[in-house]
Amino acid sequence: MKKFNIITHITTACNFDCSYCDVVKDGRNLSEDSLSKIVNFVERNQKQIWRFKFFWWEPLIAFRDMKRLIKDTQKDIWRNYEIVTNTSLLKPEIWEYFEQYFSHIFFSIDSENDFSFEQVIEFINTYHLEEKLYFNLVISPWKEQFARGQFEKLYDFGMRWFNILPVYFTQSWSRENLKGLSTVMKNILDLSLKDSSLRLYGFKENLGYDTSLANNTIFIDVDGEVYFSDLASTFSGKALREDLYLWNIEGIDLWVLSGYSFEKEKNVISFLEQKIYDQVQWQRELHQVMDYFSHYLGQKNG
Ligand code: SF4
Repeated sequence: MKKFNIITHITTACNFDCSYCDVVKDGRNLSEDSLSKIVNFVERNQKQIWRFKFFWWEPLIAFRDMKRLIKDTQKDIWRNYEIVTNTSLLKPEIWEYFEQYFSHIFFSIDSENDFSFEQVIEFINTYHLEEKLYFNLVISPWKEQFARGQFEKLYDFGMRWFNILPVYFTQSWSRENLKGLSTVMKNILDLSLKDSSLRLYGFKENLGYDTSLANNTIFIDVDGEVYFSDLASTFSGKALREDLYLWNIEGIDLWVLSGYSFEKEKNVISFLEQKIYDQVQWQRELHQVMDYFSHYLGQKNG
C-alpha cells in the first residue's frame, strides 16, 4: 500500500525575516474546524501515512495547536512526528515533547539569525536527542565561509547528521559565490568520506532516510486545503496555486491518491522551475552545483 508524507501547516507566521524567504507570511493559524478535520483524516488514513511533519513558517509559534493535534492523533501516528524549526522558540516543555513524541527533528540554522550553540547542545545532551536530530545547514550567498564555521562548530560538538541547503529563489548568487559554495561543500563532503559517522543529506545520494519532500507528499494548509507542492505557499508559486490544489481534507482519502499520476501538477512544477531558471540569475547553475556534488558523493561512496 502506497504511503504518503503529510506536511501540516499549523501557522503561516514566522518570527524571523530571512532575506531569502519566499513563503507568504500572512499570519494565519489553524482553525478549530481544520484541526478536527485533520484529526479525522489521520484516523481514516493512518495506514497510509508514512511521515507526519510540522513544517514551513515557524511551527513552534503554534505550539498550543501542535500539542492538541498530537494529543488527538498520537494513537494513529505512534510517536512518529517530525518537525522543522528555526530553533528560536525552544523551551524545556518543547524538548520534552521532542523526546516523547517525535522521531525526526530538523533544526534549520543559517547565517542571518542567532543560533545558541551552547544552549541547544546542552538540551540535546539532557534529553538524549542525538538519534533524532538533523541540522539543516542553510547556506546564503556571501555567507559560505560562515556556514562552514557553523558546520565545524556543530561537528566539534559531536553532531553528525546534516542536510546541506543552499538557498534557492534568490537573485543574490554570483559566479564568485558558487565557487565559494563549491569549496565549502567539497570540504564537508570529503570529511564525510573519512568519517563514516558523518551523514550528509540534501544530495540525491541518499543514506537511508529521505529528507527531501519530493516523493508522495501532500501539504495541508491552515484551512484544511490540500496541495501537491509547497510551492503553493510561496511568492514564486502564488499565481499557480489553484493548479496545485488537490482537495479539501474532508473530501480526500489517500487510497484515492495511490492511483493518481499527478501529471498535471508535475507539469505545473516543471513550468515553475523553468520560469525561475529564466528569471533568477545563477539558479540553474546552483542546481548544477548540487547535482555535481550528488554525483561526486555517489561515485566516491560507490
Ligand atoms: S525561518 Fe523560514 S519561514 Fe521564517 S523567515 Fe526564515 S526562511 Fe522564512
